[in-house]
Amino acid sequence: MTRRIAVFGATGSIGINTLDVIGQLGGSSAFEITALTGHANVEKLARQAIDHRAAMAVTADESRYGDLKDALAGTGITAAAGASGLDEAASMQNDIVMAAIVGTAGLAPTLKAAAAGADIALANKECLVSAGPLFMDAVQRGGGTLIPVDSEHSAIFQVFEEHQRRALDRVIITASGGPFRTKTLEEMRHVDAATARAHPNWSMGLKISIDSASMFNKALEMIEAQHLFRLTPDQVEVVVHPQSIIHSMVGYADGSILAQLGAPDMRTAIGYALAYPERRPLAVERLDFAKLARLDFEAPDETRFPALKLARRAMERGGLQGAVLNGAKEVALEAFIEGRCGFLEMADITEAVMDALDDLKTATSIDDIYAADGEARRRAAELVNA
Ligand code: NAD
Ligand code: MG
Repeated sequence: MTRRIAVFGATGSIGINTLDVIGQLGGSSAFEITALTGHANVEKLARQAIDHRAAMAVTADESRYGDLKDALAGTGITAAAGASGLDEAASMQNDIVMAAIVGTAGLAPTLKAAAAGADIALANKECLVSAGPLFMDAVQRGGGTLIPVDSEHSAIFQVFEEHQRRALDRVIITASGGPFRTKTLEEMRHVDAATARAHPNWSMGLKISIDSASMFNKALEMIEAQHLFRLTPDQVEVVVHPQSIIHSMVGYADGSILAQLGAPDMRTAIGYALAYPERRPLAVERLDFAKLARLDFEAPDETRFPALKLARRAMERGGLQGAVLNGAKEVALEAFIEGRCGFLEMADITEAVMDALDDLKTATSIDDIYAADGEARRRAAELVNA
């Protein structure tokens, strides 16, 4: 039986790996692709849609609609654009949706797909960071299954024994430490985007690579884990593990710790999500422990990586602090990429905005999230320009 799948963010790093995995899992004999979505790169999107025989291709960038339509002329593939196009893709009676749009733009279509009852393979972090309770609620009411794709959360999901919840001690999220793990605070003050994007282990999109260097990525992942696995803030721990072989762990009250290990390749987590609840063969590198020889661990340094401290604060405060942290961080990140803000200033700006907006209430609708996100962005932009 084929499963109907939509891939949101098909042209990105996760999207491309997802199409590779779909091929490995049997291609059109296993999956019917209802929709592929992209943004500016409509040439690539059209190519993917043709190669993978998608029923529809959606560019989120409305101004590129004409180009997409031209590129798909005569193929029988429907072209669509903008928020309404994404909405349509989310409503196509999908069995499963790969949610791999980067940033807050991924929120509305993923919420929609969850409410429509699709299983959600979740790569996008903002759904949980900015809208955790709202998103979890939408999934539950839609009746689909939420399967994390972020490698740490996939690891936790794979070894999380729900029936042992009462004996749950903590989850331990591993962090590679990124390219600046051994840099001094003074050296970190002067790094630029080109240095920051060079991740030692994982090959990823631009923003997430820089977020890994500042450990804002790990901060987002702490909040993701809190909502996804219904944890208290003190149940979320981070350990630096430079080899990225252990993807995360779950500790139980009897002292046992269960871990998931593998080569750092997102296709394992993607394949797990797409084949769930089964495990299917994937052509990914097998670990050779004799070659690995050693696995190292160290405590994270919250002085050089203040993002971790901010995540803990957001988890403890709750409400809209996740949305505020994320919105402010995204503005600071853009500014850093464009050379308008220093590497360490990203955390200073985020912290100031979080403290200024810590009276924001719990979200009851997606509009509350957008409002908090917008206000956080506005204030962060003011600080960047100050
Ligand atoms: P990417 O930048 O490579 O791709 C992003 C995708 O989103 C592209 O298809 C792009 O066209 C689309 N997009 C960009 N702006 C958009 C907009 N305004 N509206 C609609 N679509 C838009 O990013 P990525 O590395 O593939 O990451 C995707 C998501 O998965 C991110 O949220 C990231 O944090 C998360 N994630 C990625 C990895 C990884 O290894 N790359 C690992 C874990 C989690
Ligand atoms: Mg991750």
